[in-house]
Amino acid sequence: MDMKLQRTLKLVLKPTKEQKQILLETLEQYKFAYNYTCKIGWEAQIWNGVQLHNLTYYTVRDKTSLPSQLVISARVVATESLKSAIKRKKKGLKSKCPQSNNPAIRYDKRSYSVWLDREEVSLATIKGRQRFRIKVPDYFKQYLDWKVTSANLKYDKKLKKFFLNINVEKEVPEVETRDFFVGVDLGLRKLAVVSTPDGRINRFFDGGHVRAVSERYQALRKRLQSKGTPSAKRHLKKLSQREKRFRTAVNHKIAKEIVELVPAGGVIVLEKLKGIRKRIKAGKQNRRWIHSWNFAQLQRLIEYKAQVKGIRVVYVDARYTSQKCSKCGHVSRKNRRDQAHFVCEGCGFQLNADLNASRNIVKNYLASLGGKSGHGEASPSVWGVVNRPDVGSVGCAVHG
Ligand SMILES: [Zn+2]
Repeated sequence: MDMKLQRTLKLVLKPTKEQKQILLETLEQYKFAYNYTCKIGWEAQIWNGVQLHNLTYYTVRDKTSLPSQLVISARVVATESLKSAIKRKKKGLKSKCPQSNNPAIRYDKRSYSVWLDREEVSLATIKGRQRFRIKVPDYFKQYLDWKVTSANLKYDKKLKKFFLNINVEKEVPEVETRDFFVGVDLGLRKLAVVSTPDGRINRFFDGGHVRAVSERYQALRKRLQSKGTPSAKRHLKKLSQREKRFRTAVNHKIAKEIVELVPAGGVIVLEKLKGIRKRIKAGKQNRRWIHSWNFAQLQRLIEYKAQVKGIRVVYVDARYTSQKCSKCGHVSRKNRRDQAHFVCEGCGFQLNADLNASRNIVKNYLASLGGKSGHGEASPSVWGVVNRPDVGSVGCAVHG
């Protein structure tokens, strides 16, 4: 059985000055087409596509310069809005005529083409087909061989930018599961620590470089804030976007490397986000930057990349992961000598504290399987597929 995977790639369009005007006007006319069709449909209380087409198509063509594909697209989107609004009304729920101030233009294969490798897109506009430059981040290059389906063009008034969300899909064969489990501990001193229960994989994703970059951004921000001039404010906005892109790139890189450690059919065990936040709050030496680190995004990216490779991602409750001995299971607050070192009161076992936590995460999962898989404490041969005992830090040298 094949599985269909779907993704949305959010890309920034880079129009010339002239193209920007064309796009803004196209969006404006599309808005008219959408709102007008909604109004006609709402008055007649219909959401039938053919009927709506007959009632609105020629008027919209008359009053706008939209190409027919976009008139039809606006009608299709309006039809969907009308359907849910009228259904709500019929159920006696609160409902009104759908209207939008800034609707996104929906493109399909008849109204747009995209070349991710050439960073180029062609869109239907009021001035015919126009070619635009797009910025495709490196981590989107993995989608080059995916099938492109529809897209949405949206203008962000605040950022003054056009975003093109491109939907892509790919059929991947379902992979037979195998007994290969890694636990991932997120947060605290290291952004991620990955391990197998037997210690064959011990991989640290150090936050050092990220911290240095974040602190540089922080310093710059302070300087700009104290200036307070309009140009400083503009810089601030750009700066925060650049930092966001940097952080996303770091998450992509970490997710990619974690997934590379696991063979197809294996299992990645993550900890429920709530647990991570709690631990981070409890830790003292964690700076502000880590509080705002986007762990939800990192987990999502791990899931995305794992799916493509046929790796399962599961979540466990991470209770006591930092207080529990990953060797003997003894739980005590005193098990920590300090933030970085774990020393078990019970058996004397010593380990890097984050590594201990990450082993507990995967062991918690195996324990939750109980007798089902038949190995709470699996034999080493089971884990032997990937063998990278390279304990050390992995820098996150993305750009910046
Ligand atoms: Zn112990």
